[in-house]
Amino acid sequence: TRAMAGSRFAYVKNFELADPLLPSTFFVVRIDGKGFHGFSKLHNFDKPSDVRALALMNDAAKRVVGGRELNGECVVAFGESDEYSFVFKRTCKLHGRRASKIVTLVVSVFTAAYMALWPQFFPNSPLSLEHLPVFDGRVVQYTSELEIQDYLRWRQVDTHINNMYNTVFWALVLQGKRTEQEAEQELSGTISSQKQEILFSQFGINYNNLDPMFRKGSIVIWEEEPLAVSQDSAPSSTSEPPAPSPESADSPAPLVKMRQRKKPPKPKRRLVVVHEDLIADAWWTEGRGKAL
Ligand code: ATP
Ligand code: ATP
Ligand code: MG
Ligand code: MG
Ligand code: MG
Ligand code: MG
Ligand code: MG
Repeated sequence: TRAMAGSRFAYVKNFELADPLLPSTFFVVRIDGKGFHGFSKLHNFDKPSDVRALALMNDAAKRVVGGRELNGECVVAFGESDEYSFVFKRTCKLHGRRASKIVTLVVSVFTAAYMALWPQFFPNSPLSLEHLPVFDGRVVQYTSELEIQDYLRWRQVDTHINNMYNTVFWALVLQGKRTEQEAEQELSGTISSQKQEILFSQFGINYNNLDPMFRKGSIVIWEEEPLAVSQDSAPSSTSEPPAPSPESADSPAPLVKMRQRKKPPKPKRRLVVVHEDLIADAWWTEGRGKAL
C-alpha cells in the first residue's frame, strides 16, 4: 500500500476536503431514527410512548457517551422519541475535530449498540434485514454556554409539546374511540391548557402524573462517585512522597521515583439517566447542569 500511496493514482486523495469543526466551539451531534413512525408500528410500540423503546434508546446513548470511542468527551446527552443529542465540550479534540468522522462515529456506535441491545428489550420481535433501525446524524456548533443551554431547553420543550399532543391524541383514539382523523381535527388549534383539560375531564388523566421520562425526556450525564475511603485512596499526610518541585519537573525523574509518585486519586464517574427539568435556570446553577 505504501507503493500505491505514491503512485500515479494517488492524486485522487486530493479530492477529499478537510471538514474540521471550528476550534473551541461547543458542538452537538443529533441523531434521529429514519422512518420510525413505520418502524414503531412494525414492532408494535405502545402508543403514545413505549417505555421499552425509550429505555433502549437510553442504554444505546449510555454506550455512546461512556464508550472508549468518544474518549469521555461527550459531557451530556438528551433523548426523546427516536432522537438523541450528544453535547461535546469546547476542548474536544476527537479525530482532529473532523465533522464527518465525528458524526459517523456517533451514528454508527449508537446504531450498533441499539441493535446489540434490541433483543433485551424486544425479545419477541426480532429485527429483520429489510427494516433495520437506522439513524441519520448532523453536527451543529455553538459558541456560548447559553446557546448550549438553550439548545437543550429547545429539545425539552419539544419533548413536552409532542408528548402532550400524543397523549391526548392516543387517549381520544384508544379510549375515546375516535378515528385518527377525528382526533386530529378535535385537537387542531387547541392550546396546552385545553389539551390538559380534555385529558382530565374526558379520561381522568392528570398530565403532571405521567412518567417524567415521557414529559421531560432523558438526560444522560456523568455523576462523580463519592471517593471510596480505602487505604489506597485516602489522602494521608505522612506516607505521601513530597510533591515534585517545579525545577525537578523538567528533568526526567528516576524510574523508581516516577513509580512511587502517586497521582491524586481521580474521582471515578459513572453515567446516570435522569428526567429532570433543565428549562429552569436552577438546573444549571444548582442542579446537575452546574458541573457542565
Ligand atoms: P424521519 O425519518 O423523517 O425522522 P420518522 O417516522 O422517524 O421520520 P419522527 O418525526 O422522527 O418521524 O418521529 C418519530 C416517530 O417514531 C414518532 O412520531 C412515533 O410515531 C415513533 N416513536 C419513536 N419512539 C417511540 C416510542 N418510544 N413509543 C412510541 N412511538 C415512538
Ligand atoms: P482507524 O480507526 O484509523 O481506521 P484501523 O485499525 O481501522 O484504524 P485501517 O487503516 O482502517 O485501520 O485498516 C483496517 C485494518 O483492519 C487493516 O489494516 C487490517 O489490519 C484489518 N482488516 C480489515 N479488514 C480485514 C480483513 N478482511 N481481514 C484481515 N484484516 C482486516
Ligand atoms: Mg480502513
Ligand atoms: Mg429525521
Ligand atoms: Mg425519525
Ligand atoms: Mg424524531
Ligand atoms: Mg479503520
